[in-house]
Amino acid sequence: DLLVVGSANADLVIGVERRPAAGETVLGGDLAVHPGGKGANQAVAAARLGAATALLARVGDDGHGRLLIDSLRTAGVDTAGVLVGGAPTGVALITVDPSGDNSIVVSPGANGRLTPEDVRAADGLLRTSRVVSTQLEIPLETVVEVVRSLPEGGRLVLNPSPPRPLPAEVLAACDPLIVNEHEAKVILGDSAAGDTPEDWARRLLAEGPRSVVVTLGAEGALVAETRTETERRTDESGAGVGGAVGGGVDVEVTRVASVRVDAVDTTGAGDAFTAALAWRLGTGATLAEAAGYAARVGAAAVTRRGAQESFPTGAEVEAL
Ligand code: ADP
Repeated sequence: DLLVVGSANADLVIGVERRPAAGETVLGGDLAVHPGGKGANQAVAAARLGAATALLARVGDDGHGRLLIDSLRTAGVDTAGVLVGGAPTGVALITVDPSGDNSIVVSPGANGRLTPEDVRAADGLLRTSRVVSTQLEIPLETVVEVVRSLPEGGRLVLNPSPPRPLPAEVLAACDPLIVNEHEAKVILGDSAAGDTPEDWARRLLAEGPRSVVVTLGAEGALVAETRTETERRTDESGAGVGGAVGGGVDVEVTRVASVRVDAVDTTGAGDAFTAALAWRLGTGATLAEAAGYAARVGAAAVTRRGAQESFPTGAEVEAL
């Protein structure tokens, strides 16, 4: 089963003609409230695909918290690990202008109160999870505790968003570390400029993760893994997701083809991709197979507006 440990936010969105400058008040359209946050998004995405999914998160004892728990339950997520109280539910205040440019203020609220102690108390959830997927919209010390609490044979999937440098202990546990271009550059630092995505994938792998996935929007993704000769021979049949684009003695970089779709809104594509990949890994898929499936889920998600509203069912992915 899949356990997501992460954030849950209410996204409060107002369309405006022009985003306000300092000291200015502008009138906007009607407020829209959407369930969001990377943790909740991933949990909903996986559950909608058919995965048995639980979420460990914290919301406030308020209307936004109830809205989030409702939307998770409707999607079929096990919410026994969604803790309530300690601070108001995390909120993103979003203004969007007609060109689609936005200004966002995030109040982490209860997400910032998801503690290492909460992780230790969720021992039962962790023990029954094959794959644990997390992100960085919760305190880093909580992510460290997730790493330390992984069950024997448990696998960690980390999307370091919002990106920041990571301790070696966390990097070493990632299998895979999943980054987009921006996250890759922040984690690699200034030296990433001028490098190709293949270079980022190799250099990220050299920082300690067991495997790395770099997502490239409409260009699909890259998978980088360290391979032993035996694994290389076993996998010779290929995963059917494209050829190797780099050899090297023990690092293999594989390109994952994207699916051509009419993209209308890429919000949540990365969350859908990560959730799908984490779930498939738990069912025994290879990383390349899981990434190939995830690319189809990400592609389906960009054909509809919104984040959670845009996530496909398993049948919709098959139809793509
Ligand atoms: P993020 O949302 O984190 O920036 P990406 O934009 O790289 O992540 O999207 C994640 C995945 O979703 C991509 O690797 C790809 O598989 C899929 N995807 C995203 N945008 C498109 C698109 N325009 N067409 C097809 N697939 C896409």
